[in-house]
Amino acid sequence: MSRKARERLSRRENKVERRDRMLIHDFSADRATMEEVFDKSTLMVIYNLMKAGLIDELHGVVSAGKEARVYWGKTKEGKELAVKIYLTSSADFKKGMQKYIEGDFRFKNVKRDTRSLIFTWAQKEFRNLEQAAMAKVRVPKPVIVKNNVLIMEFIGENGESAPSLKEQKPDNPAKVYKALLIYMERLYRKGDLVHGDLSEYNIMLWKGQPVMFDMSQSVPTSHPLAGSLLRRDLENVNRFFSRLGVKVVPVEDVYRRVVGKDV
Ligand code: ADP
Ligand code: MN
Repeated sequence: MSRKARERLSRRENKVERRDRMLIHDFSADRATMEEVFDKSTLMVIYNLMKAGLIDELHGVVSAGKEARVYWGKTKEGKELAVKIYLTSSADFKKGMQKYIEGDFRFKNVKRDTRSLIFTWAQKEFRNLEQAAMAKVRVPKPVIVKNNVLIMEFIGENGESAPSLKEQKPDNPAKVYKALLIYMERLYRKGDLVHGDLSEYNIMLWKGQPVMFDMSQSVPTSHPLAGSLLRRDLENVNRFFSRLGVKVVPVEDVYRRVVGKDV
């Protein structure tokens, strides 16, 4: 090998090493978290996503839920990302997931062991975000999903998530309510989906507009639970906005409007 080639190789190796250190460095501050979330296989997935150029930096945790953690990341170009990592160690999460996966025609022949179910769960959120975005519902744009790691658009700025409706009441609640009704209708009619866990906790407010997220439990409209989940979503949204003084449309009326037929 020529001296030049050797130098080039060593530069590249250094760069890869730097990148690995950065990843490890960022989590070494909290070893317990690192070991709990990043088992070997998750670390490999993250490493491969970095190698493929899909993420360049992975920073601190934005949210540490029971079933998933959300991290702030960046692309090489500096675009902010949200990296949602489902905990493969979350045991009782399995019972809850099953009823949303059964009855979803998109996931008919999936394996039923805990790990596979969690991968399916991440896959399901990715597909749901994709279908919602296609239906012109404002959601974080999904980038890629691999095993239990989902990368999507970051809603917010400089690593700070946009506030949820729970955290920040909108200045113009009637307008936000109206936008949400349109989103729910689009999601159902064009996206063929019901959100299934819609409330002020899973809607962010960004630049004055609502953004729906947390869609792993969203189901196709053909799912046996779709009707009751839609009704619950509508009740949650109505309850929240009527408390803010908005004159809400009765659930039954808006239900009929969303599904587009008399029931
Ligand atoms: P959980 O299943 O834990 O409820 P969520 O998907 O609701 O997971 O995410 C939890 C929190 O992480 C959100 O309340 C929000 O603060 C943050 N978050 C999730 N997705 C994004 C995103 N795309 N951009 C910015 N912040 C996000
Ligand atoms: Mn949530």
